[in-house]
Amino acid sequence: MSASAPSARRRARDGPFVVPVAALLREPGARRCVDVEAEMPGLEVSGSRVPEGSPVRASVLLESVHGGILVSGTVSAGWTGACRRCLEDASGALSVPVRELCVEGGDVETTYALVGDELDLEPIAHDACILELPLAPLCREGCLGLCPECGADRNRERCSCGPAPDPRWGPLVALAGEAPQARAARSAVGPGRGPGETTE
Ligand SMILES: [Zn+2]
Ligand SMILES: [Zn+2]
Repeated sequence: MSASAPSARRRARDGPFVVPVAALLREPGARRCVDVEAEMPGLEVSGSRVPEGSPVRASVLLESVHGGILVSGTVSAGWTGACRRCLEDASGALSVPVRELCVEGGDVETTYALVGDELDLEPIAHDACILELPLAPLCREGCLGLCPECGADRNRERCSCGPAPDPRWGPLVALAGEAPQARAARSAVGPGRGPGETTE
């Protein structure tokens, strides 16, 4: 997963997420709200991605602290992927809380870079998205997935292979409609019969 090495992407002094912070740095304790939205290509993990043309938004408070800028707020973006159960399209929205310290010449493991009088919010937004993009997305909670035998999409149809569906899906299966032969089989072993004759 090459996207897990975001440090190689870090840069400053260019791009839509670069914010001038000279005035903030001169006045410790000063704060400023920033709301930036732009495309950020390459946001992808094995199961999902921020689609091309879809913007990433950083709504953050910049706070001047000694020697740096504290960035806190929210990074948000839309994502798309393939449902891990049925392989149909899946999508959703990320809303990632961030709280990061940006200093010049700081420890790259614990802080983000501050270059001169400019702060690039892109690495913070990038890392926040990469960490939150789902590795195994679902099209919806309770997706029934594909039949491992015949590949039928169990959200749309019932196939005749394999064991009975997991009883936890009972209510959903009932909603989807019962197969005629299943109804017939059940009425043939009605409650009037003796014990031991039914397998249900
Ligand atoms: Zn699905
Ligand atoms: Zn099947």
